Amino acid sequence: MTARITELIARKRDGGELDAQELRAMIDPGVPDYQLSAFLMAVVLRGMSRRETADLLEAMVDSGERVSWPWPVADKHSTGGVGDKTTIVLAPLVAACGALVAKMSGRGLGHTGGTLDKLESIPGMRVSLSLAGMRRQVEQVGIAVCGQTAELAPADGRMYALRDATATVNSLPLIATSIMSKKIAAGATRLLLDVKVGEGAFMADRGSARELGRLMVDVGRDHGIDARAMLSGMEEPLGNAVGNAVEVREAVATLRGEGPEDLRELCLHAAGELVGDRAAAERALASGEAYERYERWIAAQGGDPAAPLPEAPVIMDVPAPREGVVQRCHALAVGRAAAALGAGRTRKEDAVDHAVGIVVLRKRGDVVERGEPLARVHARGEVDAEAVAACFEIGDEPADRAPLILEMLDA
Ligand code: URA
Repeated sequence: MTARITELIARKRDGGELDAQELRAMIDPGVPDYQLSAFLMAVVLRGMSRRETADLLEAMVDSGERVSWPWPVADKHSTGGVGDKTTIVLAPLVAACGALVAKMSGRGLGHTGGTLDKLESIPGMRVSLSLAGMRRQVEQVGIAVCGQTAELAPADGRMYALRDATATVNSLPLIATSIMSKKIAAGATRLLLDVKVGEGAFMADRGSARELGRLMVDVGRDHGIDARAMLSGMEEPLGNAVGNAVEVREAVATLRGEGPEDLRELCLHAAGELVGDRAAAERALASGEAYERYERWIAAQGGDPAAPLPEAPVIMDVPAPREGVVQRCHALAVGRAAAALGAGRTRKEDAVDHAVGIVVLRKRGDVVERGEPLARVHARGEVDAEAVAACFEIGDEPADRAPLILEMLDA
C-alpha cells in the first residue's frame, strides 16, 4: 500500500494524472498524514485536470454521509472576507420570500471572520445542530444555520487541516473540491457562490476568482445543483462593522432597513439570484417580514434576539490625521487589526472575544476633515490608534466608491 501511494504521489509530482480509483486510494483514512500532505503539495504545484477534480470531489463526498432533503433547499457560500455578515441578513431574507435555507457555516480564521462566531455573540444561540434537528427547524421556521457536522465530507476536514498546516491551501482544484464537497454532501439544490475578490479575500485577482467560480459552478452543476457564482469586491470591508457582536448589530440594522448601502445591495442582489425575484426580496425587507423571520430563526436556535449583545469596555474613535478624500480603507489591514483586538483567531483552537471589533466610519470616496473619526474601535483595553488609522489612505483626488458586484457567472 505504502509503495503504491508513493508511486501515486510521484506521478502527480511529475505532472501526471491519477484516475478515480487512485484518487480514492490517496484520500483513504489509512494513508498517513505525511503522504497525504506530500500529495496535496504536488497538486498545488502541478494542478489537476477537470476530470481529476471531478473524481476527487466524488471521493471526498463519498467519504461521509450525504443529506437528502425532502424539499429544494437554498444555500449560499462566501469564500470569505472582512465584515462579511451576509448570511445573517440573507438567510432570513430569502426565507421570507418562501425559500428554505439549510446552511452549514464556518468559523473565522486569520483576518477573515466566520458566521458561527458572529452568531454565537447572540446570548443563548446554539450553532451545533444534529441533522434531525436541522431538518425539524427548516420545516418549522424555514432556516437552520449551524456548524459542519463530522459526518459530512470528513475527508475534507482532514485535508483542510493538513492544508492549513502545510501551506497548501492555495490551489483552485483543492479549494473548489473542499467547498463543493460540503455543499453536495449537505444536499443543497440551489447555491449562490459569492467569490470575493481583492486584498481582503482568498483571491486577490479577478482572473483566479473567475476561474474558481467557474470551476465550482461547473462541478456543482455536474451534481445537479442549480449553482451560480457572483464575484464581489473585497478591497474594503463589506458594510462598516468588522468583528462579531458589532457585525450582528449591523446585520440586524440592515434587516430593519437601516444598514449600510453596500451590505443591503449585496444581500438584495444575492436574494434576487437565489429566489429569482429581487422585487420580492425588496418587499420582504421593507415590510419587516425578513426581520421577523430573523427573530424566529434565532429563537429556534435558543438565542434571544432582543437581548443586548456583548459590549466592549473601551469604545474609542480614531481621528483622521489629515483632511482629504478617503482613497482606500484596506480590508486586509482592518481585518488584521480587528483580529489583533481579539475578534479573530490565529489558530483554530483560539477563542474569540465577541464584544471587540472595529466599525469603519469612512470608506473610499468619503470626504473627511482632520480630526474627524475614521473608525470606532471596540476594545478590551488599550487601543493602537495608529495601527487603525494606518488602515486608511487619505488623498486629495476625488474617488469613486469601491465596486461591489463585479460580475455574475451563470451557466
Ligand atoms: N473554504 C473551504 O471550505 N475550503 C477551502 O479550501 C477554502 C475555503
